[in-house]
Amino acid sequence: MNLTGMQIFKYLPGAKKAEGTNCKKCGCPTCMAYALKLAKKQADIEKCPHIPAELKEKFAESSKVQQHEIKLSQTLITGGENVMYRHDKTFVHPTVAAIELDSDDKDFDKKLDKIAAYEIERIGEKFKIDAIYLTGQNIETATKKIEAKNIAVISQNSPFKIIKGSDINELETLSKEAIFLGEKDIILEYDFKNLPKAVEQLTLIRRAAILRRHEPLTYPVMVRFPKDLDSLEIVAAASVLICRYANIIVLPEFDEATVSTLFTLRQNIYTNPQKPLQVEAKVYEFNEPDKNAPILLTTNFALTYFAVAGELEALPFGSYLVVTPSDGMSVLTAWSADKFTAELVARSVKNYGLLEKVNTRKIIIPGLLAHMQEELQEAMPEWQIVTGTIEACQIPEFLKQS
Ligand code: SF4
Repeated sequence: MNLTGMQIFKYLPGAKKAEGTNCKKCGCPTCMAYALKLAKKQADIEKCPHIPAELKEKFAESSKVQQHEIKLSQTLITGGENVMYRHDKTFVHPTVAAIELDSDDKDFDKKLDKIAAYEIERIGEKFKIDAIYLTGQNIETATKKIEAKNIAVISQNSPFKIIKGSDINELETLSKEAIFLGEKDIILEYDFKNLPKAVEQLTLIRRAAILRRHEPLTYPVMVRFPKDLDSLEIVAAASVLICRYANIIVLPEFDEATVSTLFTLRQNIYTNPQKPLQVEAKVYEFNEPDKNAPILLTTNFALTYFAVAGELEALPFGSYLVVTPSDGMSVLTAWSADKFTAELVARSVKNYGLLEKVNTRKIIIPGLLAHMQEELQEAMPEWQIVTGTIEACQIPEFLKQS
């Protein structure tokens, strides 16, 4: 792990009130300020004449890279992870989704067009296939065609070195040799045999990288699935390996159902747990609502918003959705954290200009907040507060009946 400012400070004169305390020779006003800068790698450890050898050693160790970043294209980077578990902090670069294509395939252009045309939107984010793993003899021409479609290429001609191995020992040995020969950008291609073995080996590799910073294994790991797996086996294996610990997965062929499933999972794993997904708090309009269209209310938690918005978009009539500023919290979490109060709802309805847009004075609140109905009624006496559904999928039926 990286040393924190406090861990560094313990070694400095300032912590022990020893000679040199806050002497400023390092260019910082205090030992603590220097420790904080060192922790952020914004200062030179040689600037302080009182640094003990033990701290220099620990600092050098903690400054080693945990996992190298490799550029697959101008815009696509893989690697760079620095924690074992997402909840420790966050994962950095989502697992790259690549499809294997044979550059000699007579249907190459057709297959490439189909891959390039694919796009899926989930919770406001758009996903496309990230890369093509290119085989065959016609690599140069095929690379140009792929790059013209803004898709990254992974092949024997790539500027990074691909090392293939069937276990951690083989990959470590080959990686050491490559480093010795001066290779800087390396991708470790793990030869997939079965899922339990793959999970075990990829976990060992990731532990060696993140926890021990063992240089030969501090490179992104790619898993290429064999062609004899059926689509269900691929979805199962790829899902597990997106969680543990593939930086790149290469699917033997393009299948829309498979990649849609994997993108949805990947999006969940690679969101930052410290930053809830949220949408802008405002009034959203669906299907050109008129002044008498129904009005619903929810928080700005992205998952909630998109679940409700999906239902409203599909209705044959217009509607409004008031989204309150609730720090990206779901309805009940926001309520329990005082981020969804009657005053806030009343203020949102007033400030977002809803009153000028509608004639109706009826607003539908989430079913989970039924207990707030009375409180809301008091805060918004001119409105009729109606308790709606608990699940978003029940909204169409509820609106038809109300
Ligand atoms: Fe503290 Fe060293 Fe900086 Fe002096 S040079 S203020 S002892 S950190």
